[in-house]
Parts: sequence; structure tokens; C-alpha cells
Amino acid sequence: MSDDGALKSAVSRYGWRAVALPALAVVIIVALVISLQSGSGSDAAGSETSGSDAQAAGGSADTSSPAASSSAAGSSSPNASSSAKSSSKSSKKSGSSGASGSSSSAASPAADSAAPSPDYVEAGDGTLAVVPGTSENLGAGGPLTQFDVQIEGGLGVDGEQFASYVEEILADERGWTAGGQRSFQRTSDGSAAMHILLVSPQHVEGYCPGYGTEGYTSCRYGDNVVINLARWSVGVPDYEGHLWEYRQYVINHEVGHYLGYGHVNCPGPGQKAPVMLQQTLRLEGCVRNPYPYPNSPADDPNAPG
Ligand SMILES: [Zn+2]
Repeated sequence: MSDDGALKSAVSRYGWRAVALPALAVVIIVALVISLQSGSGSDAAGSETSGSDAQAAGGSADTSSPAASSSAAGSSSPNASSSAKSSSKSSKKSGSSGASGSSSSAASPAADSAAPSPDYVEAGDGTLAVVPGTSENLGAGGPLTQFDVQIEGGLGVDGEQFASYVEEILADERGWTAGGQRSFQRTSDGSAAMHILLVSPQHVEGYCPGYGTEGYTSCRYGDNVVINLARWSVGVPDYEGHLWEYRQYVINHEVGHYLGYGHVNCPGPGQKAPVMLQQTLRLEGCVRNPYPYPNSPADDPNAPG
């Protein structure tokens, strides 16, 4: 707005303050705006869910992070990022008995192999590689969404196995394909509409800039479903002993965002948690549930009963 001449004379009159003070004011305003946007999802304020709902309704992505509360003064949240390690340990402890803990997923071969792996890589090499391969159509009809699976380098993860897990989850009759309403297909020729990324915890935020994942949560940014290797490897306390179910949850939740679903609350104590409840953070009195349609395709994903 101000022209150069006025600026120059102001600089000569007031020195560096003429530039520094307005610049500082701009920085403060920008910081306030940013904190209002992402901070509205802050756990510390106890308004995380409604704040994130607002963002999700705007077509944004999964923002909330339990670690956000770790930076809040006087926070006593058990979900600080430092708890990732302790939850890893506790997951590990119960891992041996956890595989058989779930009746709903016990029939899945993936369920048997879903033992927690607390020694996941914290930081990969920052590159992505598409897992080669094409699946059959997953689902029984409806509009087809093609997706690819991309793995960050340096994770030491079997990309094909991860891709097969994703396929199994998306093909599940309790998932988003329930009732033949939509279907998915994995491709690797660059034509996919949706991209499912497995990324190291230190690099998750880079793929969902400004979302405050704090290396703890997964997220969805545009066409990218970004799965945090840490959560994929050890899950969360509320799913302890049920890692395969958590993996189903996190894929279904983030893909739900891609499909246009925003966050919802627990509809009532003891009910099945909606898949779009932020179950990574809390269950709000609901019972863990990784599926949008856990009972039948007639379920309301936001209140599955
Ligand atoms: Zn979300």
C-alpha cells in the first residue's frame, strides 16, 4: 500500500523501526491467524473435536494431534508425543496375546501378522516410491476410485505387504465399499486419483503442512492419505492389543476424509465409535470400531449403533 518514497523517508526518519515494527505487526497477525485456524483444533482448549469438525466440513483434513497439548502450559495430557514410546512398550507387552484378542478380525490373515513393531524408523529419507502392482476391483460396484500406494524410502517396510493390507481393508464388506456403493482399485501407472502414503513420523507433518500432527497422528491432505508409520506400527492405547483393528481404523478414517466425511463425536456411551470419530485420540465413551458399516450396509457411518 505505501509507496517507496514514503517508505524511504520513513526509514530515514525512524531508522529500522519503520520497517521492523510494521513487519513485526504482520508477523503477529499471521501467527494469530494460524493459531486460530490450527489452534481451534487444540486439545489443550478442549475444543479439538469441534474445531476439527469445522475444518473437515471445509474439505480440509485430519488435523488434531494429541501432541499439540504437550506444548500447552500445564498440560497433563497423557497423549504427549513422548507417550509414543511408552505406548509402544505397553503395546509390545500385550502384543503376544493381542493377536487373538479380536473376534471380529481373527479370521483375517493380516490380523495374525499384525504384531506391534516398536522399532519403527523415526525418519525416512523423504522420498516416495509407488508400490508396483494393480489389484482387481475392490468392492461390488458403484463408482470406482483408483489409488496407488507410496512408501517413503528408508522405512524398512515391505511395501507390497503394506499395499496388500490396504487392499484388504478397502475391500472389507464393513468398509467404504459396503453394499456395493463404491469400489477401489490399486494401480501404479500414475493415473490414480487417491494416494495412500506410508511415511515416517518425523515427515508426516511435511505432507500435511500446518496440520499439527506433531509426528503422532496420520492425516489427509488433498488427494493424499498420509499414514504415520508410528501409528501403523504400534497403534494407540485405546486399541492396545488390537493393532490390526487400529490399522483398519486409520485407513478407513483417512480415506473417509478423502471421500468427504468430516469428524463426528461419539453418539452415546457404549455405542460403537463412528469411524470418523478421532479414535486415535480418544473414544469419548464409545467402543472402538474401525468400520463405517460394522453391522450392515444400512448403518449410518456417523452413528453405527
Ligand atoms: Zn480425521
